[in-house]
Formats: sequence, C-alpha cells, structure tokens
Amino acid sequence: KANRKFHPDNTVITLPTGQKIGDGNLALIAGPCSVETEAQICEVAERVKASGATFLRGGAFKPRTSPYSFQGLQAEGLELLKKAKAKTGLPIVTEIMSIGHIPLFEEEGVDIIQVGARNMQNFELLKALGKINKPILLKRGLSNTIEELLMSAEYIMAGGNDQVILCERGIRTYETYTRNTLDISAVPILKKLSHLPVVVDPSHASGIAWLVEPLAMAAVAAGADGLIIEVHNNPAKALSDGAQSLTPDQFDRVAHHVLRTKDAL
Ligand code: PEP
Ligand code: MN
Repeated sequence: KANRKFHPDNTVITLPTGQKIGDGNLALIAGPCSVETEAQICEVAERVKASGATFLRGGAFKPRTSPYSFQGLQAEGLELLKKAKAKTGLPIVTEIMSIGHIPLFEEEGVDIIQVGARNMQNFELLKALGKINKPILLKRGLSNTIEELLMSAEYIMAGGNDQVILCERGIRTYETYTRNTLDISAVPILKKLSHLPVVVDPSHASGIAWLVEPLAMAAVAAGADGLIIEVHNNPAKALSDGAQSLTPDQFDRVAHHVLRTKDAL
C-alpha cells in the first residue's frame, strides 16, 4: 500500500482543519521536545507560528533513555498542547508510546500522532494505529533500514489507515560528532519507492543546534515535504534536548531560509 508502483500519485495528507503535508509546499512542524508549562508551550507556539510554522510539535509522553530523566507531563501535557492550539490554531503533533493511550489522544484532539524512532517496530502499536482515522508521523528507527521503515508504514496502512507521513531523523553510525547521522539519501529513495510524504528531523539527526539549519537546507534540496524542528524559549533550561533546540529567533531565520529555498526550487 505504501509502494509507488501501485499508487503513482503523491499522497497529500489533509487535516480536517485544512493544513496539508505533501502538497508541494514545505510543511514546518516546530515546537519544544517536551511540553513543560502552559507559558512555555503557548509562547513557543505563538513564536513559531509567526515565523511560518504550520504545525506545533511537543512531547507529552517522552521515550527517555534513562528512567530517571524527565518522562514528560503525560496527560497534562496533552491538555497544555490543546490550550496552545486553541490560542494559535496550529494543529498538534505529539508522540504516542502505548496502545492504551490511543483513546486519550483521540479525546484530546491530537491532530497527528507521532510514532517515535524507538517504537518504529512496535508492531502491535502500529496495527492499532492502522484502525484509527488520524495521520501518523512514523519516524525511522535508530538502526532501521529504509525497507524496514516502509514495512512499518505498511503495518499501519494494512489496517486501513493510509494517512502515513514518513520521517528520516538520523540513524546510528560509527560517527560520534553528531547524535545520529542524517541519511539524506533516504529522502529521494523514499520518494522514489513510496507515494507517502517524507519529512526530515534535523534536530534529532544532529543533536546540535547550529547544525539544524544546514541539515534542514539539505533536506529541502533533497525533496523533503516538510521539516520537524525543536524550538524552545530557553534552550539552556530545557527539560529535554536543549542542546539541539533553536531559540524562537534562530527558528525564525531558519524558517525564512528554508521557505525561500523551497520556493526557488
Ligand atoms: C522527539 O521527537 O522528541 C523524539 C523523541 O524523537 P525520536 O523518536 O526521533 O528520537
Ligand atoms: Mn527531542
């Protein structure tokens, strides 16, 4: 179902509220790694919207490497995302970690459900998400091949949900300078093999704020349909992923640069 051979036209994901991914415009999904407070998420939402973002990201259920790290505000985080959405109109993209949370995500009006890298092969979760009527942003696993990513998309689509957005977020290699290695070739390869929209996450791919702009530019040049970028009002104090988070001012520069570049292609 994800294969372009049987579906030559590009899939365009359209939200009930009208926002699109894969329609030829660059979708900008921006916001903090974790939702922390109402003031934080609302300030970041207003700022990224003013810079051209069309979706708000923010983690409520966080897949942290250490069980002693901040695990997210969980259900309260979804409430705060809803407030930020009410203020700005930006649809919400947030990560799900458990099948049991699907009803909560539906009740809280999450617009796009993110499956994180660590759950890319949680097949029972993927099957359950195949039964709902919401777009799924599926991130490539830390050590997964392009073929495996496409098979995970297939798990969702096989259940009847064909609204899948693929996300390249960097993979593990022997390089240690960056948090992950952005597999830029995955973008044109995924676009060739599949009709699904492809977005790139330069924040998790690099782990370093100053690398976000060049990687975002590379993603646009490679044909990405969108970018998902971490933005925090005070990166130094962020409860997760501060080192890779842009300030709203930095995001403003990057957003203008990538949108201008996309228009010029
Ligand atoms: C995130 O988006 O904050 C995240 C945890 O991403 P990934 O699953 O790509 O590591
Ligand atoms: Mn993060």
